[in-house]
Amino acid sequence: MDAVQALRDAGQGRGGMNYDAAVIGGGPAGAALATHLARAGRSVVVFEKEAVAHDKVCGEFLSHEGVGYLESLGLPVDELGALTLSHVRLAGTGEPVTAPLPFEARSLSRRVLDEALLRLASSAGAEIRRGVRVKSVTGTMNGFAFLPERGSEVFANAAFLASGKHDIKDFKRERGAHPECLAFKTYWRLQPEEAAALSAHIELILFRGGYAGLQPVEGGRANLCLIVRKDVYADRYGSWEAVLDALRHEAPHAGRRLSGAECLTERPLAIAGLPYGFLARSNGWLWRIGDQAAVIPSFSGDGMSIALHTAHRAAGIYLSGEGADVFQAALARDLSAQIRRATALSRLLVSPMGQKLAMNAAYMLPRMLSFGADWTRIPPRALDRAAL
Ligand SMILES: Cc1cc2nc3c(=O)[nH]c(=O)nc-3n(C[C@H](O)[C@H](O)[C@H](O)COP(=O)(O)OP(=O)(O)OC[C@H]3O[C@@H](n4cnc5c(N)ncnc54)[C@H](O)[C@@H]3O)c2cc1C
Repeated sequence: MDAVQALRDAGQGRGGMNYDAAVIGGGPAGAALATHLARAGRSVVVFEKEAVAHDKVCGEFLSHEGVGYLESLGLPVDELGALTLSHVRLAGTGEPVTAPLPFEARSLSRRVLDEALLRLASSAGAEIRRGVRVKSVTGTMNGFAFLPERGSEVFANAAFLASGKHDIKDFKRERGAHPECLAFKTYWRLQPEEAAALSAHIELILFRGGYAGLQPVEGGRANLCLIVRKDVYADRYGSWEAVLDALRHEAPHAGRRLSGAECLTERPLAIAGLPYGFLARSNGWLWRIGDQAAVIPSFSGDGMSIALHTAHRAAGIYLSGEGADVFQAALARDLSAQIRRATALSRLLVSPMGQKLAMNAAYMLPRMLSFGADWTRIPPRALDRAAL
């Protein structure tokens, strides 16, 4: 008898449970996957370490593909209060440049979206265990044992890792081909004239060592989310306040937007060690989905769409009886060009020369902004392949 089988038997003896599938992480990837599998009649458990609805470090820009995936799951985002975004604006040291987005996007807070997705998974029949952090997963050809921080092991025939930005023991992601960055997120209440000017726009604002996204979200708020190179942060800034100050002063546009604005977030949410450009390879048995499968730089705004795409793709391949290695190879084919392009663009945008180049290109041809957004989307043929 192998080790997992022994653990499995011991777990059953203690009232442990067996599932067809267990999912670590109840973000968009984990919740969407659980919904698909539960609807197909599989027994599924989702472990989510946060006990209640919470904010996440995210720009909250939902691309056209993401909206499509959510609607196909039965989640019309407009009914959840999503706002429509139709234009993109790029700002640096000079005047901003505006262009239409190549698609109509949405803006919706993660606190609302992620909870709605978990409710959907639960109503499809998935068991959601809130406030449970999984410490490790071990597997052999016979099955998988999940060890939560509290309580006894849980056993499942398939293991899905959807823990997003957080790695778990023994499954750390490699660093991608992008300078290491820190990310911060805050909500603001802008002055009425600034809020009106921001309406329907996603604004990308460049500053030394990084770039910020500013967009309206429901509740009359604006989401300000930014990334900054770790080395520049250490040399020049050293605190969130210093980053904010640089953003306001280096980019007059940001100074204008935030003038007289009220920050609604007591302390910014922050995260470090983002492996931008990472694309998972198969280890033979673990299904890595969402940010555990692929990490696209935030600027392209396609992270949630990729998370939902990986969930669709994984569900389709799993339900057809194929394995994690087939899925991970398919995903690499679907996403590698998109991730490479977005990573190259983002590398430009965190360098002084690249920022100049980007601004000049946008001044000469504002449509370049639309091309940039288009260029870093999930390719249509990959979307076709994901159809369930
Ligand atoms: C600065 C920044 C800005 C971004 N802006 C955008 C944007 O505007 N638009 C966009 O589409 N994407 C954006 N993204 C990317 C987007 O946030 C991610 O791609 C998306 O959240 C991935 O979804 P996920 O389900 O894989 O992971 P997550 O959303 O991170 O969800 C993972 C879940 O797993 C849980 N978890 C983690 N570890 C464990 C554990 N051990 N046990 C149990 N539960 C666990 C977490 O609590 C979390 O709820 C941005 C990312 C960053 C960093």
